[in-house]
Amino acid sequence: MIPRRFPAWSLLCAALLPFHADAQESFPRCLEELRGMAATHDIAPPTFEQHVARLEPDMAVIGLLDYQPEFHTPIWDYLAGLVDDERVADGRAMAVQWAGTLQDIEARYGVDPATVVAVWGVESNFGRNFGKRPLLVSLATLSCFGRRQDYFRGEFFTALKILEDGHVAPERLAGSWAGAFGHTQFMPSTFRRVAVDFDGDGRRDLIDSIPDALASTANFLREAGWQTGRPWGFEVALPPDFDAAGLAGRRNKRPLSEWVALGVRRADGSAIEPGAEAAGLLLPAGEQGPAFLVLRNFDALYSYNAAESYALAIAHLSDRLRGGEPFRTSWPTDDPGLSRAERREVQTLLSQLGYDAGEADGALGARSRAAVQQFQRGQGLDPDGRAGRRVLELLRKAYAER
Ligand code: CA
Repeated sequence: MIPRRFPAWSLLCAALLPFHADAQESFPRCLEELRGMAATHDIAPPTFEQHVARLEPDMAVIGLLDYQPEFHTPIWDYLAGLVDDERVADGRAMAVQWAGTLQDIEARYGVDPATVVAVWGVESNFGRNFGKRPLLVSLATLSCFGRRQDYFRGEFFTALKILEDGHVAPERLAGSWAGAFGHTQFMPSTFRRVAVDFDGDGRRDLIDSIPDALASTANFLREAGWQTGRPWGFEVALPPDFDAAGLAGRRNKRPLSEWVALGVRRADGSAIEPGAEAAGLLLPAGEQGPAFLVLRNFDALYSYNAAESYALAIAHLSDRLRGGEPFRTSWPTDDPGLSRAERREVQTLLSQLGYDAGEADGALGARSRAAVQQFQRGQGLDPDGRAGRRVLELLRKAYAER
């Protein structure tokens, strides 16, 4: 999909204020322009009237479009939140509940249940987090303001077409600020390209049909070149004096046999079966952290969201769902990342100690980070706002001693 994990708190509200007056005037004119384009996008006039005529812009999404996160998330924080024991347990429960459907999906699309469930868990936390912004409001706003109007106009008309064709209920069509929606968080254009009707009711419903959503994910991966029965890759150990910097890179591929000849082994000590299959060496935290050889299926996962950290989260979650262990090599930090349960504990402890940490939702947004900064200042620490293991332990101590 396209970047859509920028949290809602990040609005540069002050900078946007002068914008609003203009928007009130120009938005109706822009909708008129879009109305004139509807026919060329095969949208019937009544569809436009029904769904668009009374829309108001949501200028917050323009702030999100331009927002550059100043808070850089280390890979170990990112993975600790996405692949924690809670998500592994939830994913295993979902794999049991939907076992028959997942089996049918594997038979038709050649993508295994653990991979499909892992995408589901990372994209929408198994359907618990779709995003709450009405899709047409976001897409109409992005079609009329900001720097990617042409792109978003295409998404806007495709979303209208989805409604016109009756695939999803109009009042249910909400999602991320950028227009990704449903269990799989597809953009409308991705929907048009790969969504499938798997439960056979004639609608491709990624919001209210789990079979449709899971099968659409599998179809996406198949279209992205998924190789049935092959792993995404595996963690490896590098030999001493290895030219890691010169050889690393997902696209810097060489045959497995070459990696074997260079002395690369699996992290568990077993040998890699030499062969012609092309693999790239991934070093997400540099030479001191875990290393991975990644195969074609990793690229298929990457195509879902164009971020290596994202693909690694899905890959690792799928391994954990199959009963795999956490990575053997530790991340190069003495202050590891926190699970969502631990993040909620951080927020709860901050609140109990009198800080304004907001709701204990495990997300550690701007409000929580500001509270962490206050706590860090009080402890004489660098107030970077990051809550890792160290801050959690200091909070527990402070709470015990209060
Ligand atoms: Ca269906």
